[in-house]
Amino acid sequence: MSQQNLVVLGATGSIGLSTLDVVSRNEEQYRVFALIAGQNAEKMAELCVAHQPKYAVMSSEAAAKQLSQHLSNTTTEVLSGVDAMAEMARHIDVDIVMSAIVGAAGLLPTLAAVEAGKKVLLANKESLVMSGQLFMDKVKTHGATLLPIDSEHNAIYQCLPSTIQRGESTQLIDSGVSKILLTGSGGPFLNRPLETLAAVTVEEAVAHPNWSMGRKISVDSATMMNKGLEFIEAKWLFHCDADDIEVVIHPQSMIHSMVQYRDGSVLAQMGQPDMRTPIAYGLAYPNRIDAGVAPLDFSQIVDFTFTKPDFNRYPNLKLAIDACRSGQAATTTVNAANEIAVAAFLDGRIGFCDIYRVNALTLEQSALGVLESVESIMETDRAARRRAQQIIETLR
Ligand code: NAD
Ligand code: MG
Repeated sequence: MSQQNLVVLGATGSIGLSTLDVVSRNEEQYRVFALIAGQNAEKMAELCVAHQPKYAVMSSEAAAKQLSQHLSNTTTEVLSGVDAMAEMARHIDVDIVMSAIVGAAGLLPTLAAVEAGKKVLLANKESLVMSGQLFMDKVKTHGATLLPIDSEHNAIYQCLPSTIQRGESTQLIDSGVSKILLTGSGGPFLNRPLETLAAVTVEEAVAHPNWSMGRKISVDSATMMNKGLEFIEAKWLFHCDADDIEVVIHPQSMIHSMVQYRDGSVLAQMGQPDMRTPIAYGLAYPNRIDAGVAPLDFSQIVDFTFTKPDFNRYPNLKLAIDACRSGQAATTTVNAANEIAVAAFLDGRIGFCDIYRVNALTLEQSALGVLESVESIMETDRAARRRAQQIIETLR
């Protein structure tokens, strides 16, 4: 088989690096065509030396200039800005696009890949949270192949009937599916006394018990906003309603999610909490390749438990599920507010429990219209960010 050309959006991040690790193990099958990142020119320079992409794109001109200085001896062409990112994602020579920029910044380049009918490996859940309907319509119209990389959605995908996987049917009920069981570990504060949550430090919040991830998604896991965003992501990916999805806490993160069928069967996908497994699955689908991940050792598993989430502990989860029921403007708003709130928490400007306050107040104070275009989505995103910033000022 000939080599497939790959673009990695968010190459210097946790998912980007795991993707490049899997590619290194399967070099005869994948070639790195372009790497895309935000500001970290030094890390990007290392990656360019190792993978020799044709193009490297940074978010700002200043970072691109810095990168060029590091790369004077290579053939990699250095570019900057979101238009160049989109250009790479839709480039005629590209087969696969890994979407792993963090946050709303991932939306436009990911949509460019979808509109060009690429095979899109979606880690950037925020783009579906913001634009689910439009995104999925574009996948269909442009014949893109969408493979979920978020471990839960990848697990669900693996457990669904092949007719649904291939997009020949979108009817879960007709395929015998009765429920999607979205699992989550509960994060680092599953058992911490509720009255001490206000005192949570940044270090405590980013220290996830099972997964090693970027800082934003780590905080989202601690508040379980991450599971809320994933709830919305699942609704769009699997064409179902909020009532078809149930969140289950499974602290060991060995089952990555499950699909329950009408006849009583429950299919689960299991594995180590290592994103290289879903990444390898997405890259090679429908084949299987080496991901560098050890299998589970069942002789070493001590506990294997499940509980219902407590919304008093995780009010952000409830907020996101309610937003999912409310519609696209609410989910775009809560996503934007959360990005601002988490950044403020990571900067030490607000406390851990203030994240929920900012998110809830932003939703409460925002006019929620109908979003039918990318422009209206981006405008709602910007308005929610401004509102969230104002609310943060009042909390300080
Ligand atoms: P990260 O913070 O480690 O990396 C983010 C990447 O995005 C970096 O390469 C950064 O340079 C890039 N970036 C940031 N702003 C940018 C901009 N404006 N333009 C271009 N690039 C920009 O984050 P991560 O943990 O790798 O997560 C990436 C995405 O994958 C998120 O949407 C996250 O929710 C999702 N995800 C991550 C994991 C995980 O295990 N890390 C699991 C599931 C889903
Ligand atoms: Mg996940």
